Amino acid sequence: MKVFNFNAGPATLPAVVMERAQKEFCDYKGSGCGIMEHSHRHKLFDEVLAHANENVRTILNVPDTHSIVYIQGGASMQFAMIPMNLYVPGKKMQFADTGTWSSKALKEAQLFGECEVIASSKADKYTYIPDVKAMKPDADASFFHITSNNTIYGTQYQEFPEVECPLICDMSSDIMSRQFDMSKFAMVYAGAQKNLGPSGLALVVIRKDLAERTPANVPTMLRYSTYIDSDSLYNTPPTFGIYMLGLVTDWVLEQGGLSAIEAINNKKAAALYAGIDASDGYYSSPVKKDSRSRMNVVFRLPTEELEAKFVKESIAAGMIGLKGHRSAGGIRASIYNALPMEGIERLLDFMAEFKKNN
Ligand SMILES: *Cc1c(COP(=O)(O)O)cnc(C)c1O
Repeated sequence: MKVFNFNAGPATLPAVVMERAQKEFCDYKGSGCGIMEHSHRHKLFDEVLAHANENVRTILNVPDTHSIVYIQGGASMQFAMIPMNLYVPGKKMQFADTGTWSSKALKEAQLFGECEVIASSKADKYTYIPDVKAMKPDADASFFHITSNNTIYGTQYQEFPEVECPLICDMSSDIMSRQFDMSKFAMVYAGAQKNLGPSGLALVVIRKDLAERTPANVPTMLRYSTYIDSDSLYNTPPTFGIYMLGLVTDWVLEQGGLSAIEAINNKKAAALYAGIDASDGYYSSPVKKDSRSRMNVVFRLPTEELEAKFVKESIAAGMIGLKGHRSAGGIRASIYNALPMEGIERLLDFMAEFKKNN
């Protein structure tokens, strides 16, 4: 039986991408060895990198004002690099606190300078996204940081705030899942392991002029300018991860780009939430309806015992990764780009059957 992978991250990747990587694994383009075994200065890798850049620029409609770079250390490294590079003394770093990941970004920034949380749903257990129209960071703030999709609590911005200061967004768990206007953001970043490829790699799209802020004492490897000026080739980049990101973004383009992907994702999420809402309260979403995530669908059952049974039996039914995050409990179905509609249908059938039997 085909297994559907609902893992939150690392997560499912398109089957055709995995197959293509397997085919090219030992012999990339007739070179006699795999891309992983080639020098990052070799022409073949130059092409891989240029291709990934081109795909990202096309898919996300990245303007010329912004650079695309790849940095090791995942999204969590960005939590530190952002304040290290972009804090302007005397100008606050402002945050919207909408869950575990935004709290972690804030915690790192507090090591470097004055921070302020200007919007938060913490008091309500992060069950919603605060009103974006009421998010009013200082015009001269160092930056305003938001998290577009909260992977653990299952909430997602439906629209983004309009601000005067640089807007920075952690899009780790919903990048390339829907359309948005990149020109409104000073910086967007994402750990690759949800919608883009293997873990350990962060995609960073950053407005070039921001990199000029970096104080002189920031180490070379932690400066955005190092990556921008060298096209991510200052040292050996995660070459295999960039190659995989190239294949995944090829797939995104083959699907028809973000407008097509967004339509499919909306359909998938709508079907799953409809199943939850039609269960007479047997399944319940703790998330406010206007904040529901189309990537991580979080729900509860009547008791924790039933939740444990649900997880156990779902594995036998060919679905993995449905256990909620240890801090939130319950069930979490991560339905990233690569999780097909058939996976949603399998889950809905299973949910109906489980409810009937329990
Ligand atoms: C997964 C995730 C992270 C952490 O990514 P790492 O690559 O493990 O550092 C950060 N932010 C969000 C929103 C995430 O979903």
